[in-house]
Amino acid sequence: FLEIKGIKKQYGPVTAVQNVDLQVERGEFLTFLGPSGSGKSTTLYILAGFEDPTAGDILLDGKSLLSTPSHKRNIGMVFQRYTLFPHLSVGENIAFPLKVRRLPKATIDAKVKEMLRLVRLEGFEDRKPAQMSGGQQQRVALARALAYDPPVLLMDEPLSALDKKLREEIQYEIRRIHQQTEVTILYVTHDQEEALRLSDRIAVFSKGVIDQIGTGSQLYANPRTRFVAEFIGDSD
Ligand code: ATP
Ligand code: MG
Repeated sequence: FLEIKGIKKQYGPVTAVQNVDLQVERGEFLTFLGPSGSGKSTTLYILAGFEDPTAGDILLDGKSLLSTPSHKRNIGMVFQRYTLFPHLSVGENIAFPLKVRRLPKATIDAKVKEMLRLVRLEGFEDRKPAQMSGGQQQRVALARALAYDPPVLLMDEPLSALDKKLREEIQYEIRRIHQQTEVTILYVTHDQEEALRLSDRIAVFSKGVIDQIGTGSQLYANPRTRFVAEFIGDSD
């Protein structure tokens, strides 16, 4: 479904990622887990089209994505923070990607309602982002990212600015939404507990390469490197 082949990204003398090979199944929840600077975001930005890889290719349904500009890739995105347009209301934020696609107003209104229901924020339509908690804002960001039914959703540490209780609450929401929709999720975190809780499979990043890919229990039971053993085992 989604194939990442030999991706490499070089920033001057710095190799941010190299030899990244991944096959992602439709509907899968795959997490990039690794310490700061290990290349997780770089890989996600290349998928999003914010950065071009130095080498390698990305295929979605057999077609290369690299020649498709970012805004035409049909890939939803949620980032760490500040992802909403502050001057637009919640409803307008969610409607934005649909307006860009020139859908009829009635369709947009219905979709905004459906999305607010999905993230359990009915009645918040007219609020501004600043009048909502961080967790509510991230749920709106999620609703906006899913509004046009993208086949792939990328999330880069979407919960890292939230406190523990809220983080767990929204992890649960994300899991529920993943089960309800058929969206394929690529999720970045440096929190192994979060990765184990959410993912079908985890790709462990270390210094720009993927050390190992597998289910949480595979990685736990059979770590291929000492780094994987320490990173997965080390729970704080
Ligand atoms: P974090 O958990 O801190 O977000 P990460 O795993 O997402 O880390 P990346 O942001 O992908 O890491 O960075 C990987 C490497 O590439 C780092 O060494 C970083 O300094 C370098 N890098 C990333 N972006 C750039 C850039 N625009 N210019 C130069 N170097 C960069
Ligand atoms: Mg990052």
